[in-house]
Amino acid sequence: MLLSIEDLHKSYLGPEGPVPVLRGVTLSLNAGETLALTGESGSGKSTLLHLVAGLAAADGGRVLLDGQQVTTLDDRGRARLRRRTIGIIFQQFNLIPSLNVAANIAFQARLNGVPEARELSRLARALGLESQLKKYPEQLSGGQQQRVAIARALAARPKLILADEPTGNLDEATADDVMEQLLALVAQNGATLLMVTHSRRLAARLGRRAHLSEGHLA
Ligand code: ADP
Ligand code: MG
Repeated sequence: MLLSIEDLHKSYLGPEGPVPVLRGVTLSLNAGETLALTGESGSGKSTLLHLVAGLAAADGGRVLLDGQQVTTLDDRGRARLRRRTIGIIFQQFNLIPSLNVAANIAFQARLNGVPEARELSRLARALGLESQLKKYPEQLSGGQQQRVAIARALAARPKLILADEPTGNLDEATADDVMEQLLALVAQNGATLLMVTHSRRLAARLGRRAHLSEGHLA
C-alpha cells in the first residue's frame, strides 16, 4: 500500500468557533492505483490533498505515505517527503514566471539533485512541449502551461501525484487532451494518482472514484 489515510479530522476556526471540514476520512491507495475525488465546492477536497502533502496539519487521524507517517514528521521531514515522493499539480498551473519552460520542468527534480536530461526530454516529447522549451510561461496557452506543470510534477518520478482540478481552467477539448497525456504518463511511471475533479466524465477515466460529502468519503 502506498497511501493510507486513517480517520482524518480537520477543522478551521471560524468566527463562531471551529468548523469541521473532514470528520473522519479513511482511504487507502495501492501503488499504481488512480482515484478521482469528487465533492461539492467547499466540501474539503483541497484540504484533504493539503493534509496528504503535509502542507497543513491534521487535528486527528493519520496519513501514512510510502511507509512514513506524514502527520508526525517535522517540517524538514515533510518537505523532504514532498520533494522525493509527491508531485503536485494545481488548477492554476503555478509555474515560475521568470524561468523558461525547460527550467520550470526541471525545477522540482533539481531540488533532489541533478535531473536526468533523458527523463526531461522524454516528458517534453510526451507532452508535445519540445518546441516550447525556451519560451516563458506567459507566452504559452493555458493547456501548454498545464502540460509544463504536469512535466514538472512528474520529472522527479514521484510515487504519488496529487492533482487538484488540474484541468479546471481548460476548455473541454484541451482538458481531455491534457488528461489523456497525464494518465498515460502516470501509467508509464507506475505512479499513483489522487485527482480532484468536478467532471464526472474525467472521473470515469480513473480506476476508482470517491465522493466527499459532509466530511466523509463515500
Ligand atoms: P474544496 O476544495 O472541496 O472546494 P476546501 O478544502 O478548499 O474545499 O475548503 C473546505 C472548507 O474549508 C471551505 O468551507 C473553506 O472555506 C474552508 N477553508 C479552507 N481552507 C481554509 C483556511 N486556510 N482557513 C479557514 N477556512 C478554510
Ligand atoms: Mg478545492
